Amino acid sequence: MIRRQFLPQIPYGTKDFLPKEATHKRVMENSLAALFARWGYDEVVTPAFEYLETLNAGAGDGVAQGTFKFFDRNNNLLALRSDMTTPIARVAATRLKESNPPLRLFYLANVFRHEQAQAGRQCEFYQAGVELLGTGGPAADAEVVALAVEALAEAGLDNFKIGLGQVEFINGLMGESSLTPEDQQKIKHHLVARDLVGLGEALTVSGLGADAQRLIRHIPLWQGDDAVIQEAYGQVKNEVSRSALENLADIKRLLAGYGLERYIRFDLGLFRDLDYYTGMVFEAYTPGLGFPLCGGGRYDTMVAAFGIDCPATGFAFGIERVLLALERQGIDLPDPAKDVYIGWREGALPAAIAEATRRRQQGQAVELALEPATREAAKADQVAKGYARLLYVGDDSHVDES
Ligand code: AMP
Repeated sequence: MIRRQFLPQIPYGTKDFLPKEATHKRVMENSLAALFARWGYDEVVTPAFEYLETLNAGAGDGVAQGTFKFFDRNNNLLALRSDMTTPIARVAATRLKESNPPLRLFYLANVFRHEQAQAGRQCEFYQAGVELLGTGGPAADAEVVALAVEALAEAGLDNFKIGLGQVEFINGLMGESSLTPEDQQKIKHHLVARDLVGLGEALTVSGLGADAQRLIRHIPLWQGDDAVIQEAYGQVKNEVSRSALENLADIKRLLAGYGLERYIRFDLGLFRDLDYYTGMVFEAYTPGLGFPLCGGGRYDTMVAAFGIDCPATGFAFGIERVLLALERQGIDLPDPAKDVYIGWREGALPAAIAEATRRRQQGQAVELALEPATREAAKADQVAKGYARLLYVGDDSHVDES
C-alpha cells in the first residue's frame, strides 16, 4: 500500500509571518501603541471569538455572511470577531459603562472574515485602531481622522490621502424623494459599491424626476477640495444633506488646526457601509495599493444595541496593507537587531556565557554558539547569520571582537 505523504498547509486566506516580517509587524504595532497612548487612548483586549448573537447585535446581520462560525461543547453558536468595533462597543456599554465620557480606547488585534484572498486581502488579518466613545461633535471626528493621519505617518508613509464623506448627505436626498425604502436601498447599494452602471439603471426605472436623477448621478463625482462642499450645498435643498455638508466643513476646519488639511480630500460618494455608519466616514489611500489602508467613521447607534445610548467614532488600520504599501514604495523598516555572535573554543563556554549575559544586560542582541568552533568557523557563522560583530572566546578565556 502506498501511503500518501502528509503536506502540512495553512488554511485559505491565512499567512505565516517569518522572522523579518514578524519583526516589521511588531515594530509597527509597538510604535502605533505608543502613538495612541500619547493621544490619551487606553488599550483593551477582547476575546478572539464571541457569541454570534453579540456580534450580530452590534454590526447587523449583513456581517454574518463573512463571519467564521462554530459551536462550543454546549452547542452555543460562536463566531470569530470580524472587526473590533462591536466587541469594544460591548465592553463600553457593559464593563466600562460607569466610566466618565469620553472613553478613548485602542486595540491591536487579529480579525477574521471570509474573503477572496489576494495580496493585501486576507481571511485573517491584523488591525490597529481606536474608538472614541461618548461624544457626538465634530471635535471627536476630527481627532480620529487626525490620529489616523498620524498613525500612517508613524508607520513610515507620507504619500497618502484621506477621502472624507458623510452618510447623511445621501440619506437626506433619499428622505426627500418619493422612492420606496426598497428602491432607496438599491440606489444606496449601487453608490456604496461605486457601481455607476447599476446606479444609472436603477435611477432610470426609479420614477425620480430628471433633476433628482442628475443630482444622485453626480454624487460619486463630487470629490476634491472646499469647492465641492460649496457646489453641493448650492444644489441640495434639504436640511439633512446640508447639515452633513456643514459637518464636513467643520471637521476640515478642525483638521486645519492640526496642520493636516493637506491630506484631506472630500468625497461625497464615499459611504462605506450605510447600515453601520451614521455620520462622517473616511478612508486612506496610497498609490500602488488597490485597497484602502485604513477606514472609519461615526457610528452613533451601535452601542445602543448593548443597552446604552452612546455616540461614537473611530477607525481601523490594516497592518498588512500598510506593510505592503511600504514595501511597494521601497520604504525600509528596521530588520531584527543582530549585534553580536559569540563563538568559543573547547572549554570556554562558561566565559562565553558570562560575556553573553553581560552584553544582553547592556541591551545588545546576542546569539551564543552552542558548540565549540575554531575562530574561522565562528566568523563564517557570524557572517552567515547576519550579525554585525563576532566575539570569540579563545585560550585562557581571552575575548576578542571583530
Ligand atoms: P474595515 O474594518 O472593513 O473598515 O477595514 C479597516 C481596514 O482593515 C481596511 O482599511 C484595511 O486596511 C484592513 N482590511 C480590511 N479588510 C481586510 C482584509 N480582508 N485583509 C487585509 N486587510 C483588511
